[in-house]
Amino acid sequence: MKRIKIRQVLQTQPQEQIITIKGWVRTFRNNQFLSVNDGSTLNNLQAVIDFENTPESELKRLTTGAAVSITGKLVASQGKGQSVELIAQSFEILGDSDAEKFPLQPKKHSLEFLREIAHLRFRTNTFSAVFRVRHALAFSIHQFFHERGFVYLHTPIITASDAEGAGEMFRISTLDPKNPPLNDAGEIDYSQDFFGRQANLTVSGQLEAELGAMALSEVYTFGPTFRAENSNTTRHLAEFWMIEPEVAFNDLNDNMDLAEDLLKYVIRFALDNCAEDIEFLRTRLLEEEKQKPQNERSEMDLVQKLQFCLDNSFERLTYTEAITILMESPQNKKKKFQYPVTGWGTDLQSEHERYLVEKHFKKPVILTDYPKHIKAFYMRMNEDNNTVRAMDILFPGIGEIVGGSQREERLDILEARMKEMHIPTEEMYWYLDTRRFGTAPHAGFGLGFERLVLFVTGMTNIRDVIAFPRSPKNCEF
Ligand code: ATP
Ligand code: MN
Repeated sequence: MKRIKIRQVLQTQPQEQIITIKGWVRTFRNNQFLSVNDGSTLNNLQAVIDFENTPESELKRLTTGAAVSITGKLVASQGKGQSVELIAQSFEILGDSDAEKFPLQPKKHSLEFLREIAHLRFRTNTFSAVFRVRHALAFSIHQFFHERGFVYLHTPIITASDAEGAGEMFRISTLDPKNPPLNDAGEIDYSQDFFGRQANLTVSGQLEAELGAMALSEVYTFGPTFRAENSNTTRHLAEFWMIEPEVAFNDLNDNMDLAEDLLKYVIRFALDNCAEDIEFLRTRLLEEEKQKPQNERSEMDLVQKLQFCLDNSFERLTYTEAITILMESPQNKKKKFQYPVTGWGTDLQSEHERYLVEKHFKKPVILTDYPKHIKAFYMRMNEDNNTVRAMDILFPGIGEIVGGSQREERLDILEARMKEMHIPTEEMYWYLDTRRFGTAPHAGFGLGFERLVLFVTGMTNIRDVIAFPRSPKNCEF
């Protein structure tokens, strides 16, 4: 008999119809009540086992974690907490689970512990909810761009350009590490390497996306990016996914509108399509917050926080205005920041970003027009010759979630800027060619996917929203 997913079963009118479900045992109570989950929903289906007519040896195999197939009659539930239940007529153990050794017991485990068994943590309510929400967000991102006529461009993961400067790169090579070929100067001779040159894992698909935008008008990439920085924080991964739209003829205002629309669209999609999972995560977060002192608890619960984000326009202001606010903040005056804000030109730390969002404006913030010396070479120079048309979107609990800019489309200014920053213009001829042949104003941004998933799920560590996190000294699964 064809198997029906539990999500569908739970929405079915029970009429004693015979159905088959397959899944994994969560609990087995009183040798009779078997709770089964198949990942299609947070909810388990209860199957009632005919223990009197089942050999003891079979009942013993219904242990937590075992994979089962059950055929039975769907009836209205007698017990509380579920609408339907399955009166089992037969069951088959598809895969035994050694209950003694199974690390997941029907009790609460810490997220730290679950990180150590990331290969099994999908089987918990929390992680199955997180990964269903993650899926919904990814899907809605594609839907958002598709509805607007964007072309999904798959930019390369292996790249030879290290000019983007977004972070340290992972080198990839097929040379023998014990005995690499050397050139006359005694350095490793990468001309003998696989690509005939040094190659790395990409830190961003932006430069290639720009090339696409100069013909297709509106493109986006959504793929993995890699940073070999040794930042052991709750918001950084060595491998993360990034969404990078790039749009011809857009200026910075259009760019901010696009980013705000995108964020609101996908948050709404998750609220509409993952209500059950988000409700579970909301409750989970409330429980977690109870561990904190009263004054550190958040004023809003998860759903309120998401709704608030939809109902309010993001605050837009310049970096310069933000510096004034930060300089005059009680936090700064009382020297409460770990990195004091000393004046115009300092790079903002996450504590400053979060102050602006969580304490000052109490809503998402878009900062624009940063000093050129703290931003990348490709950002469009303002009239003042001192600031560039950059934008960072800052979110509560997260800090920077989006970084973007209007790009410098003027060849002479771009070249001058690259020289100033010691970026080899010859090697980047392909990038500069877009400015030589039909250059046009354009803008884009990068949205860190895991930071978005963090925000929507209310999880607090980025390692808990990606299946198998990669971070310094951590590449287990
Ligand atoms: P941060 O200052 O937080 O380290 P960044 O300025 O280096 O970030 P960008 O190069 O602007 O980041 O990347 C665009 C977006 O990608 C960021 O806004 C963020 O959402 C995400 N992002 C950047 N680095 C990481 C990382 N190491 N892990 C996860 N997401 C990241
Ligand atoms: Mn950034």
